[in-house]
Amino acid sequence: MFNSATHSPPKIKSDTERLILKAIYDAGTISRADVARVTKLTRPTVSTVVAKFIDDGIVVEKGQVANGRGKPATLIEVVDDAYRVIGIDISNSEFQGAIFNIRGQILHSEKRSVDYSNPDFIFPILIELIDALMLQLDRSDVPLLGIAIGTPGLLNVKDGSIRVATNLGWSDFPLQEKIKTRYQVPVYVFNDSQAAALAQFVFDNEGGNQDLIVFKAGRGISAGIILDGKVYSGSSFGASEVGHLQIIEDGEPCNCGNYGCLETVASSRAIVRKAQLLAEYNPDLILNTYVSSPEEITTNEVLRAYEAGNLEIAKIIKQAGRYIGIIVANSIGILNIPQIVIAGSLARFGDILLQVIQEEMEQRALRNIVEETELRLSNLGQDIVMQGAASIILHHELGVI
Ligand SMILES: [Zn+2]
Repeated sequence: MFNSATHSPPKIKSDTERLILKAIYDAGTISRADVARVTKLTRPTVSTVVAKFIDDGIVVEKGQVANGRGKPATLIEVVDDAYRVIGIDISNSEFQGAIFNIRGQILHSEKRSVDYSNPDFIFPILIELIDALMLQLDRSDVPLLGIAIGTPGLLNVKDGSIRVATNLGWSDFPLQEKIKTRYQVPVYVFNDSQAAALAQFVFDNEGGNQDLIVFKAGRGISAGIILDGKVYSGSSFGASEVGHLQIIEDGEPCNCGNYGCLETVASSRAIVRKAQLLAEYNPDLILNTYVSSPEEITTNEVLRAYEAGNLEIAKIIKQAGRYIGIIVANSIGILNIPQIVIAGSLARFGDILLQVIQEEMEQRALRNIVEETELRLSNLGQDIVMQGAASIILHHELGVI
């Protein structure tokens, strides 16, 4: 059905090959002599590997540069369009996926809305999304390095199965195996917030922080942790599951079976539900002018009402932000992580959310620690999980990230 497997990319196998490719990738353009200097490998080794890369089409020669004495050095560079990767995000009310080049730039993207009320339709929507991306990919002859999926829930990273994803209605679901069987390419399955943290670390990390936490707040709430430059996933891959920490005793029932979890009061679903109730009892509310009935209200309409200056909506957002702030304060109290990044669809509310989270941090954690902690929004917007997924493939298949 799809021809990707028939023009599969040559493997970057050895550590030496990965080291050399990364040196060229990071430099932009560079001479073979400088690659040898940067990698501390011998010139003949570098020349042999570079010749192979040129044969494979991942590196090209790009002009010459005078090197002071002797003949000019030939410059080489990585071909950004040598391969494609597919990154998928199934953590929101719309599944989204994109085709990336090896610089992590999006070349084409697709979205599919999901009806969560019927779990039987969820996996077929994912397949429909990947099929659409594969069809687009088949229009060019560029080989595909792999597919990576950022998914909510508790995973077994070893076999890429979902142990439990309450929001998708999946348990013991062999996601990686199913996708691999269908498309015959390398497949990686990663927790959505851990993918987001990786994207933040690779693509939006101006100060070069080695420790950071991304709180991804949207349909679900989770936290991806980077410690010492590596994703920390916990002993059974559950380090990100802050959305199911109980924050209200005897609160509302949660999908996970418990009551009063953070997600029941601070997720986009919780916010939308509160906004719908407000709209129902206040016919004059601005929200009602956007939709024909309150059930049609989504995060988009809530954001619109907030931007229009509606104070009652602002109050709902603030309350949700305060609950998130409690968990953020606890996290910095335990881990003393210097950078906290807010991502996901709730990040669209911007400053109002940051302000209340900051207030909760100041009220609940040690002042010195709070003063040394930077709280900010991610610059990666709604693409963050897809970008993280793409970077996982680039790391595993090419070693350039
Ligand atoms: Zn829960």
